[in-house]
Order: sequence, then structure tokens, then C-alpha cells
Amino acid sequence: MTGWKALLACLLLVAVMVYAWKHPSEVEYSSQQFLMDTFVTVKVYGSDRGHLQQSVNEAFGEMRRIAELADHFPQAGTAAYRASDVCAINEKAGIRPVRVHSDTITMLTLARQYAELSHGAFDPAIGAVTDLWNFSGDNPVIPVSESIRQRLKLSGFRYLTVNRDNSTVYVRKKGVKLDLGASAKGYATEKAYQILKRSGIDKALIDAGGNIRTIGTNREGKPWKIGIKDPRREGGLIGTVSVENGSAVTSGDYYRFFERDGSRYHHILDPRTGYPGNHTMSATVVTQDSALADILSTACFVLPPSEALALATGLKEVDLLLITSDKKIIHTPTLTGRIEINPNSGYRYDQGR
Ligand code: ADP
Ligand code: MG
Repeated sequence: MTGWKALLACLLLVAVMVYAWKHPSEVEYSSQQFLMDTFVTVKVYGSDRGHLQQSVNEAFGEMRRIAELADHFPQAGTAAYRASDVCAINEKAGIRPVRVHSDTITMLTLARQYAELSHGAFDPAIGAVTDLWNFSGDNPVIPVSESIRQRLKLSGFRYLTVNRDNSTVYVRKKGVKLDLGASAKGYATEKAYQILKRSGIDKALIDAGGNIRTIGTNREGKPWKIGIKDPRREGGLIGTVSVENGSAVTSGDYYRFFERDGSRYHHILDPRTGYPGNHTMSATVVTQDSALADILSTACFVLPPSEALALATGLKEVDLLLITSDKKIIHTPTLTGRIEINPNSGYRYDQGR
């Protein structure tokens, strides 16, 4: 070996040693479970594999607990039905308030607040209408318009009263049903994040079927890059958004849908009409709290784009990216610099206008 080659080899060795010293054998631990009708992946980094594994298990346990409280699908008489606060509240609609868990109070307080703020575009008391469409079942149908009209009378967040002082929730009209499908996943993700954070993990990514929550940076010390899906090309991305210590949550018309006579029918309903929202193909909300991001992504999906942008802009540290039905990509100005849009995405993009 010539002298300079030996020197190079030495320098390389020193560099590796310095890296190893600064990053004491950082390992990745990743695990996936099927929860809340979707695959949830939790990925964490640290030096102690046993600790990582235990923290991830606890995070999944927490998500499962929240999912059970918020589940509105179980059959009456089953253990899952008895475990669900939402089932208990729905059962006693128009009869009496129900005492519930503090997490249910927190979830419903937030839901009620943002239902009001979005003028009902996000509505947690839309269950009577979503039941009719049955998107979560095997055979979704287009309901007859008269049925939708009738069910709309049994829908509306104004029937929901949350009493924090005595931990009760009351739905004031019989037949009105809560459906937390648009918000429970985000809340569960945020609770899982809190578990990881409390156990000292400083680098993590939770992906609950497109509901992303991150801690710290990625392995290279850079913000996590989250892909924004192309709503009309499976597996395709229109771009990415950078997220460090925060959430990116997308509501899209491509997750659960069917087509009839050339029209697309999907699972996010406009509470004013009872039919699927038709202004937008996808709405991505970037903000710290994943529970808020989940609620707002549904609200911004349903609202006309100008109102969705106004809603996001009016809130502190909330960013929004929309892919509209007429194939435009628009976003709040503060996202500039944190997003990259693929110039060949096939959508119109005028730098955030
Ligand atoms: P995803 O479940 O795909 O993450 P969302 O967070 O937007 O998407 O939630 C959609 C679910 O929320 C539907 O499956 C339904 O249960 C419920 N839902 C539909 N429309 C609304 C609405 N306007 N407001 C609140 N919940 C809704
Ligand atoms: Mg949502």
C-alpha cells in the first residue's frame, strides 16, 4: 500500500469511529398492526432494542384503547359494544347523558369545537347518514334521495352536548348517531406519539394509514419527507412535504370509493347534502397535533377550496395543501419551502396561488 492510500484508510477508520461514538449503534425498530380499519406502522430509533420494542408495544396498546372507545360498528351485546363509549352515547341518544372516559370527553370537545368552526363541514354526528351509505361494509349502495333527506334530519353536531365538569356526553335527539371515523385515528395517533415521547424516544414515525406523526428528524438528521399521493394514480406521488416534530394527515376521495355510471362515490360526505363532497380530490393538513390534523383534513376536504384555505390560514401553525377536483394544486403560503411538487404530476400548480 502506498503512503497516501494508507493515510486515506486511516482517515476513513477515524471517521467511522467518530460516527460510531456520536451514534452509539443506533438501531431501527419497526412494527405493524391492523387497527381502525387500516395498517398502522410505528418506526422508532434508539440504542436499546428492548426499550424500543416495549415502547412501541405500549403505543399500539394505547391506540387500541382509543379505537375501542370510539368504535361505532360493534353489534349490541358484544364485548366490543360494551367497551365503546360512542356506542353507549348513541344508544342513549334522546334518553339521557352518558358518563364517559376522559379521552372521550377530550375527543368530543375537540370535535364539537371544530365542527362549529368549519360550519359543520366536519360533523361528528353524521352517523345516521354514513350508516346509510355503508362505505365500511362490503356492499356500499347509493341510497335513494328521500332516505338521505330523512337521515339528514337525524344528523348535526348541534345535537351533541359535552359536559366536561361531570364527564358526560348527551346526544339530544333519538336516532342521531356519532361517527368518529374522521377524527379518532388522529387522536389515537397523537396518544401513541405521547407514549413514545414520554418513554424518551426522540426519533420516530407513526403512519396510521396516511395519518403521519413524527418525532424529531429522520436517520440522516433531516426533517421527515412525507409523500403526497396522486389521487388518480395508485402508487404515484405528486410531491412531498417536510415534517419535523409534527403531523401530516390526508383525506382523499380514493381511499374508499366505488364507481357507478361513470361517477365516483366516496366515503367523505358533505353534511349539508348527504352526498360525497365534490370540490376536492385530496386535502393534506400539516400541523403539530395529529388529532387536529385529522379533523381539519376532513373539514378542508368538504369545504369549497377558498373556504378551506381561509379556515387553515385563520388558525395558528396550520398548513393545508389541496388537490382540487379541477386538477389544481393549491396550498397555504407558509408551506412554500417545505414542499416539493413533481413538475410532471399532471396537475396545475402555480406556486401556492
Ligand atoms: P379516512 O378515514 O380515509 O382517514 P377521514 O378522516 O376524512 O378519512 O374520515 C372519513 C370517515 O369519517 C368516513 O368513513 C365516515 O365514517 C366519517 N365522515 C364522512 N364524512 C364526514 C364529515 N363530513 N364529517 C365527519 N365525519 C365524516
Ligand atoms: Mg379526518
